[in-house]
Amino acid sequence: MRVRIVVTALAFAGLAAAQSTRRQASLVVIGGTVITENARHDILSPGAIAISGTDIVDIDRPEVIAGRYRASETIDARDQIVLPGLINTHTHAPMVMYRGLADDLSLMKWLQEYIFPAEAKTVSPEMVRIGTRLAALEMIESGTTTYADMYYFEEEIARATREAGLRGVLGQTIIQFPVADARTPAESLARAERFITAFKGDSLIVPAVAPHAMYTNDEATLKAAAALARRHDVPLIIHLAETEDEVKTSREQHRTTPASYLESIGFWGPKTLAAHGVWVSDDEIQILKQRGVGVSHNPESNMKLASGTAPVTKYLAAGVALGLGTDGAASNNDLDMFEAMRQASFLAKHAMHDPTVVPAATALDLATIGGARALGMEKAIGSLEPGKRADLITVSMRAPRQTPLYDPISHIVYVTRGDDVRTTIVNGKVLMRNRQIRTLDRAAVIAAANQLAPRVRDAVKH
Ligand SMILES: [Zn+2]
Repeated sequence: MRVRIVVTALAFAGLAAAQSTRRQASLVVIGGTVITENARHDILSPGAIAISGTDIVDIDRPEVIAGRYRASETIDARDQIVLPGLINTHTHAPMVMYRGLADDLSLMKWLQEYIFPAEAKTVSPEMVRIGTRLAALEMIESGTTTYADMYYFEEEIARATREAGLRGVLGQTIIQFPVADARTPAESLARAERFITAFKGDSLIVPAVAPHAMYTNDEATLKAAAALARRHDVPLIIHLAETEDEVKTSREQHRTTPASYLESIGFWGPKTLAAHGVWVSDDEIQILKQRGVGVSHNPESNMKLASGTAPVTKYLAAGVALGLGTDGAASNNDLDMFEAMRQASFLAKHAMHDPTVVPAATALDLATIGGARALGMEKAIGSLEPGKRADLITVSMRAPRQTPLYDPISHIVYVTRGDDVRTTIVNGKVLMRNRQIRTLDRAAVIAAANQLAPRVRDAVKH
């Protein structure tokens, strides 16, 4: 257990003097319990946050913030918990269109008989746009403020993400076989390069290169993808050692396991993100640590597809930058990061026969500052601190299942659901207030997805 400091008394000398010269803030979130996720793990109860433009400028007690700032907009967060926006380190946003299309199958059967054929027939710029808007709506409503994506037509995903106001690390997929947005790996590499050039430097979008996996790309393509990412200094994202099948294929083709194979071809480096990392040896965990690789743990997807149990406690002990992900909605089947936190904790306890591993506080770290580290963005997001971007959420604590409230972190991880989120703020902009979405037309987004659904269903009829 780590020490948690509950700040109850801070110095507020000079309060009266400050009141006469109150500074202008664009937004103040006041009242409620503020879980900062800063290095000291401070919790202010009650607390308040002042935001100016895109950044957090101050965090203190409510009366101190009220004395220091005049705000254009004030959000009353009493009876709520305020925490950093959740960071989903692995998903495929448009795959919400395949939600519930094919369940209860092995990964390879699911991929090869359902998902790849459905994608071959239905992935288009329009489908990607409609799917991303639906995913963005779901993420905003369930408290996710940043997500890492791997898909096709990533420029459409980037535009829809930016319009919704979310932050995204978005990887254009590179894959060996013909897909909707490229006939060859060379074409997808060229597409990725155009995508990077178009979005580099955007305030919300970090463009990335996403070779699908080591078993769906040959060595030349994997090396070219890594070189492209390094040339532009952008993240490189890959699925890693998700199933035993992948390990078997790797052994047959390369006489070694996936993480070691990728090390042998010089793939790993800083700004690489590996999704899953279920089947890795102790030595490979050390390689990932030494190379500064971020790892995305996806407990729900791994359980649903019976892929295996990622060695979370070993990653944590080794100091690997570990984040949490939902994976695509076709294998989860939602994008609710509260559930991901809960399942990360439960799965580790169950697998290790040890109820003390991955306690609630660790699960929350994984979904916030841990995810930020895995994405190499810990200087900008992942905790509530002055100088960081204002990415935060407020969560109601009034439900019967949240009553009584002794420990805010326990409630966030063990009983809270995405639906409990009241306010979602990204880059200082309020995307949802009192569950009213400001950046998307909720009814239109859902209607468009429903209109597209019959075409998706027809595509997988055998
Ligand atoms: Zn995935």
